[in-house]
Amino acid sequence: MTALPTDQTITDLLTSGLNACGVEASVLSAGSGAPANLPARSPITGQSLGSLAADTKESAADKIAAAAEAFATWRDVPAPVRGQLVQRWGQLLGEHKEDLAKIITVEAGKTPSEAAGEVQEMIDICEFALGQSRQLWGKTMPSERPGHRLMETWHPLGVVGVISAFNFPVAVYSWNTALALVAGDAVVWKPSENAVLAALGAQSLLARAAAEVGAPEGLVPILVGGRDIGDAMVRDERVALVSATGSVRMGREVGPVVAERFGRVLLELGGNNGAIVAPSADIDLALRGVVFAAAGTAGQRCTTLRRLIVHESIADDLVEKIVAAYKTLSIGSPTEDGVLVGPLINEGSFEAMQAALKQAESEGGTVLCGGRRVLDDERPEAHYVEPAVVRMPSQTSVMESETFAPILYVVTYSDLDEALDVHNGVPQGLSSAIFTTELAESEKFLSRSDCGIANVNIGTSGAEIGGAFGGEKETGGGRESGTDSWKAYMRQATNTINYSGELPLAQGVEFL
Ligand code: NAD
Repeated sequence: MTALPTDQTITDLLTSGLNACGVEASVLSAGSGAPANLPARSPITGQSLGSLAADTKESAADKIAAAAEAFATWRDVPAPVRGQLVQRWGQLLGEHKEDLAKIITVEAGKTPSEAAGEVQEMIDICEFALGQSRQLWGKTMPSERPGHRLMETWHPLGVVGVISAFNFPVAVYSWNTALALVAGDAVVWKPSENAVLAALGAQSLLARAAAEVGAPEGLVPILVGGRDIGDAMVRDERVALVSATGSVRMGREVGPVVAERFGRVLLELGGNNGAIVAPSADIDLALRGVVFAAAGTAGQRCTTLRRLIVHESIADDLVEKIVAAYKTLSIGSPTEDGVLVGPLINEGSFEAMQAALKQAESEGGTVLCGGRRVLDDERPEAHYVEPAVVRMPSQTSVMESETFAPILYVVTYSDLDEALDVHNGVPQGLSSAIFTTELAESEKFLSRSDCGIANVNIGTSGAEIGGAFGGEKETGGGRESGTDSWKAYMRQATNTINYSGELPLAQGVEFL
């Protein structure tokens, strides 16, 4: 464990990131004269970073109205030309990768490597979306009527509203936005109230790209605020699609509101990810895969590994190795070299972790390592914890919900069917993995895992642009950032064209 940085070090890091990304430091004192009512803080030290002026429902409505107006122009720009906007955004993100990463580190507590990885993901989706701008294709199909042609065409949807979570404060926005922009949509963003500054950095670079390529004003506004502002956006009839990333609780609130007004919704909600380790597994590889997936980002990824299902013949050996590896993890400020586990986002996360550990023990679990708060004597406002490994007698109720903190529960199995039942026996369905060297086991797992992501010999976290990302069941069913996820941001039309000079009716119907 290393000493935590001073407030000044964090402020300097933040200021340099904000300045380079083109965000005026005065946003933190609400320079426009509006009340600075949204506090910003760093989980690294727990210090206040200042306060921002949150949007009001009225100002949010005005921004949505302006986005709807911008959409009316943007929809007519040819898609490959729209692609130039995301291309330029990607270039600017490349130039400012370190700068934006600094803000992410300060606000979300990610290590520089993970923060830069998040920005790289934004660059990757911009490249992907640029290519997609020439591939918004539809199919043609034979008509049953002579001299007729049937085809599908794809059209811009309208205003897309993006809600994002604190733990990927900017990448998830870009997954949605890069594709929505080439699809011809306007995008209104309500970022997490815990990571507004990173959002302002990312959005400022996009606004600069938009101005440079001559995109209409108001195309990509940002709404600063908490749940109430998110809710105002969700209820706005002008928002054709709400793409919301966050907890299952949030999805349960947002989904019905959008459904009520027949809007579209794309939900990317909590995960409760499991991995099976079969007796044939390469144990060293499994060990590294498990430790990164379970303890990386301090357990604050939607794809974090939370449930390890290990064959009984190798469980003791593997668990011993995991515990030994956990003891070597360096916990502390992500600004320090070599630190692998940064802070939890806030006190609420720490309390949720403690409550889950207590519940696990009351359900027969044994905490093998971790769970203890550290560095609190130095910075009582910051919440650092030792990642925990808990051996459970079976998959009890504490394992059925997501605790957004580094707890790895371990259970054993004797045959693969049983392991798959345990694996699928939770309400969430985001990411999953098996470690095995047997083809039949791997294939059986891939065909039976009920998750949107199923991996072999790699952990549950660390997705790439190109493969659609998302999950089933309570995870919400959405898919983003790959394969044909662009379709979520467009509407499909079926066109029938008659060049026969006659008017034959389908199904042989006669009329007139
Ligand atoms: P959260 O649900 O507390 O907040 C997420 C966002 O939703 C925030 O911007 C918040 O202001 C907004 N929000 C909350 N309630 C709302 C409401 N009723 N109406 C409108 N907006 C509302 O989540 P969090 O703590 O920021 O993030 C952690 C959670 O996000 C975890 O559950 C994690 O698994 C999940 N997550 C999922 C994915 C994914 O792709 N599946 C990715 C990242 C995070």
